[in-house]
Amino acid sequence: MSEHVFSTDQTAQIYLDANATTPVLPCIADVVLHTMKTCFGNPSSSHITGIQAKHLLEHTRDQARKVIGAQYGDILFTSGATEGIQTAVVSTLIAAKNHQIEKPVLLYGATEHKAVPNTLSHWNEVLSIHADVLAIPVSNDGILDLDFIAQHAKNALMICTMAVNNETGIYQDLAAIETAIRTHNSDVAWMVDCVQALGKTKLALSETSIDYAPFSGHKLYAPKGIGMLYIREGRVYTPFIAGGGQESGKRSGTENLPGIAGLNKLFELLLDETDSTFKPSRVLNEYRDKLRTALIHTFGKVTFNHQFQNSVPTTLNFCVNELSSKEVMDLFDAAGIRISGGSACSSGANRSFVLDAMGIASWQSENALRLSFGPAMSPSDIDLACERICALKPILQANCLVVSDTLSPQQEACALGLTQYRHQGACSWLFVSESKHAIIIDPIAEMLPRLEKIVSTQSLNLVAILDTHDHQDRISARQLYERTFVSMLSDVKAGQLGWPSNIEKLDLMNATLERIHTPGHSKDSLSYLVRSKKTGKVLYCFCGDLLLPAGLGNSLLAGGDALEMANSLRQLNTFVQNETVICSGHDYQQCFAINWHAQIQQTPLLSALLSGAMSDAEFVTTKQENDAHTITHSASLCGFAATLDEPPLMQVDVTKAKSMLLESDTCLIDTREPYEHDANDLHKFFNLKKEQVINIPLSRMAHALVTGKLEKTHHYILLCRSGNRSKQAANNLAHIGFEHVYNLKGGLALM
Ligand code: PLP
Repeated sequence: MSEHVFSTDQTAQIYLDANATTPVLPCIADVVLHTMKTCFGNPSSSHITGIQAKHLLEHTRDQARKVIGAQYGDILFTSGATEGIQTAVVSTLIAAKNHQIEKPVLLYGATEHKAVPNTLSHWNEVLSIHADVLAIPVSNDGILDLDFIAQHAKNALMICTMAVNNETGIYQDLAAIETAIRTHNSDVAWMVDCVQALGKTKLALSETSIDYAPFSGHKLYAPKGIGMLYIREGRVYTPFIAGGGQESGKRSGTENLPGIAGLNKLFELLLDETDSTFKPSRVLNEYRDKLRTALIHTFGKVTFNHQFQNSVPTTLNFCVNELSSKEVMDLFDAAGIRISGGSACSSGANRSFVLDAMGIASWQSENALRLSFGPAMSPSDIDLACERICALKPILQANCLVVSDTLSPQQEACALGLTQYRHQGACSWLFVSESKHAIIIDPIAEMLPRLEKIVSTQSLNLVAILDTHDHQDRISARQLYERTFVSMLSDVKAGQLGWPSNIEKLDLMNATLERIHTPGHSKDSLSYLVRSKKTGKVLYCFCGDLLLPAGLGNSLLAGGDALEMANSLRQLNTFVQNETVICSGHDYQQCFAINWHAQIQQTPLLSALLSGAMSDAEFVTTKQENDAHTITHSASLCGFAATLDEPPLMQVDVTKAKSMLLESDTCLIDTREPYEHDANDLHKFFNLKKEQVINIPLSRMAHALVTGKLEKTHHYILLCRSGNRSKQAANNLAHIGFEHVYNLKGGLALM
């Protein structure tokens, strides 16, 4: 393999997700450890060990004042920013309980970290404040609407804004916000979340009327579990944690002295002008430019989701125009580069509420990626990061993900056979015969750029673009595709659903494509059959929504008819064989490959119909009942799919996998996409012969079955990044009769 291959060694990772958390700097870790082992006293103890601890605590507080420019007011050590936010909100709302404002509001910036609005709403309810919790809108550039603040300030019980945004790095003009607030309300509590500002912008809190400012250690090279809260002199305060009276009774609980010692070291570095650990903004700007250049070099078209002139240089939020964020994330992860999709700070998000609030296009919000580094990044680290990003380019080219000038041998092979393209549960299929004759079935608009690239880089001869029926859940993208590929498609006029007029069968050289009418889901439904010329067998059946993996299409939508469906299924049964792979228009179950035999076994209604155990009338009644239930109880508009019975999944850990792989008939199947597979050298890691490692991404599972790449009697260990995709694939193979499939638990992440 080439120099672009990376090892699976976790120590070789490039970490570019500093806004989520940072590693602890070695010199800080040393101090933390020393405090745990040697200077471990309790600051409340009156003996010398305790006095030493107390000294460290107070010295850190003094250092903190200098770092954030807070000569006055209080600094409390907390467990992190979330606790600081709770404390500020609870203190303010308890004091505001007897307010006289007719229509009170709680204001927060629309791009604030979720810790802020969720805390406001929570305590607003718990304390029965009954205020309206309002988001302050932001402009396209992420800047808070000052007029909105000015308009609502007089009714506000609290106003929460942030200094620097965690997803985009956009910073706010705090002086302008202050004017907007204070002109209308000199007394309202104003909290500024300064988590992402520390070490990146200059802070002089005592020169402002900011009332509360939370900070977090783990965002700037200190350990997790330590943070602090600045409270302006004279502002209301209610201890959030009561108890033994530590921190002058303001925050009880024995102090986290090792964490505080870590902050102490951090502050020492920040304050020491002769120390070069933290880079000046000029250098950080150069780093950002280098990263931007590397991204553009590798991916070509990259869209940045924020302006660089109003964001800190340590954050780049971007989209790769022609790849989904999931694909880019998987690729980066496989190559040992850790970046984040959307916001890693709030779990479960798959689009960015921050970009949504900025009014950025939907595709950008869905595909946003965040690359962030800390201000202590060294020049060699940034160069290595750029080098690694640039090394991804050949992998992308080899997999037709970016346009390449040369055609590598791998590129020649990558689209041959069948590939599934999925978008939100809808499936589209590309079939390419050995002679490179290609057909696209059920085209999806979002997949057009990808298919365009594959067709052109692999010089495919596109024969037809076909729909199986008029889709009820989306507008057909066929015309869009036809316009794009107009120069390639033959002059024969396309008739119903794209099938060329007056043609019985499409010739794909070593195979033919036939169509049969299979109404039931809709009147116009067609099924397309790829038949091998050599064996006469039907290799693939593209049945649209007549069948779904382990289920039947909905017959209650307009044009649907359960009796016609019964006839179509019986007819289909006369055309296909047990091994024919069924390719549906939807794959809600993430099944990826199911053959006719498994389809019958997994679909009781189908097996009852075909075996004659159920009459047509019974089929119609049961089907209609099922469909009525699906329509009211499920989001899967196009069909009924029972949950597949899970066969008992055999999981193995790395040690077991390695010992099994020593046995000659066990192979490793990497179920990741080829571009991820190419970024690692798995056979070296597992000490295997190259041919013992097979790459079958889920999207090519159907192809692998038909081409006989897999033997039912063989032993296979499946793996992917986290163990999820491979688990899916292992289940699917078990369903179609593979008895010896094992999943590598936790995937590459746990190796
Ligand atoms: N505020 C911002 C802007 C953040 O980025 C984060 C962390 O993701 C928090 C608050 C919460 O900080 P902590 O993890 O210390 O509770």
